[in-house]
Amino acid sequence: MILIINCGSSSLKYQLYTPDLAKVLASGIVAKIGEPEGYAEHFVGRRGERRHSETANHHDAFGVMMEALLSPEYGVLECPGAITAIGHRVVHGGAIFFGSVLVDDCVIQALHDCAHFAPLHNPANIVGIEEARRAFPGAPNVAVFDTAFHQTVPPKAHLYALPFELSTAHGIRRYGFHGTSCRYVSQTAAELLNRPIEALSMVVCHLGNGVTLDAIDGGKSVDTTIGFGTFSGVAMGTRAGDFDPAIIFHLVKELGMSLDQVEEICYRKSGLLGLSGLSNDMREICTAAEKGNTRCQLALEVFTYQIRKTIGAYAAAMGGIDALVFTAGIGENSAEIRARICADIGFLGIEIDPRLNAAARGGDPNISAAGARVATLVVPTDEERMIAIDTVALTRPGVAAMQEESPRLAAE
Ligand code: AMP
Repeated sequence: MILIINCGSSSLKYQLYTPDLAKVLASGIVAKIGEPEGYAEHFVGRRGERRHSETANHHDAFGVMMEALLSPEYGVLECPGAITAIGHRVVHGGAIFFGSVLVDDCVIQALHDCAHFAPLHNPANIVGIEEARRAFPGAPNVAVFDTAFHQTVPPKAHLYALPFELSTAHGIRRYGFHGTSCRYVSQTAAELLNRPIEALSMVVCHLGNGVTLDAIDGGKSVDTTIGFGTFSGVAMGTRAGDFDPAIIFHLVKELGMSLDQVEEICYRKSGLLGLSGLSNDMREICTAAEKGNTRCQLALEVFTYQIRKTIGAYAAAMGGIDALVFTAGIGENSAEIRARICADIGFLGIEIDPRLNAAARGGDPNISAAGARVATLVVPTDEERMIAIDTVALTRPGVAAMQEESPRLAAE
């Protein structure tokens, strides 16, 4: 069986697949790690339960997951030896990893070297890997990076116009995020369109609490909105997205804020929450906007305008697009946001059918109007499945020997 582990900054999610990936046998989350109101959920098929579970750290959370998987009452594992491979989501692979890799001591060291890029996430990812190596000593571990898919973004798009020596000496560049989601969704979109991905230019809009727009040309990421940290690009749930860096100097020098305060504002108090003053949850914002809340109406306008503008920029970057793909919480579920984004961009060939758009969830993923030049699709993301696919691919017999020759082996 294949186990997928996703250690977030304060949670541990897991999914257990059959070896052929045909079925998810169990899934769960240990949430709010380090908080008194921590809880754990464990599902076997549709049957599941949620219970209070206070965990001090990711080591404890791993123990809670093991208990659930091995529990005689609702577990699905007879013994740890039944796990044949483990796949891990790793947030930041710096400029070292451009594909998924089998984990060994050198990889662990490289993950530590990249940890300063994602101080809340990479250390948690490393704990997940180290615990898994201890708990399943016979099974290989695979690391799948959020940044890896964007390693194909060329220098003209990943370099900032800062002093070149400064950037290269300190790894300052655009890295991008949500790469595993964008890779899965773009491959699925090509399959749905029954066209080779190599022949398609597409823009993927991963619209969740975090937001990434990704320009994908011939299956390769060529530009993406998130940059060095995790808040550039489009406004997100609580993150600001692009703004003039001069504002930071103003806040510090003129208003006397500390850098920590500015950081808190940029990451936790901005975006939809900052604009609306109400919430970072798009459902609440849409409901309030409909009832006449002008700040929420403004938040919707800013959000959808920034996305529409970026789609235009990426269409220009790739010389036009064949497909526009919506995914993640907002992209998959909000017909209203999709409609607002796609309004008045018919000149790019993007036109959606309102009826298909309204019924997209569980309906036809292709919501394009008849005769539209660009195919607009709604594709549910599944990062865990993508990680599982890489895990199976990299743990096939013979692949480990190949990696020894090339430590940067890409999964494809
Ligand atoms: P994610 O980070 O992918 O889980 O997405 C979370 C975001 O999706 C939140 O802003 C939710 O409000 C939003 N979301 C989920 N369902 C809906 C929906 N039906 N309509 C609008 N937004 C939604």
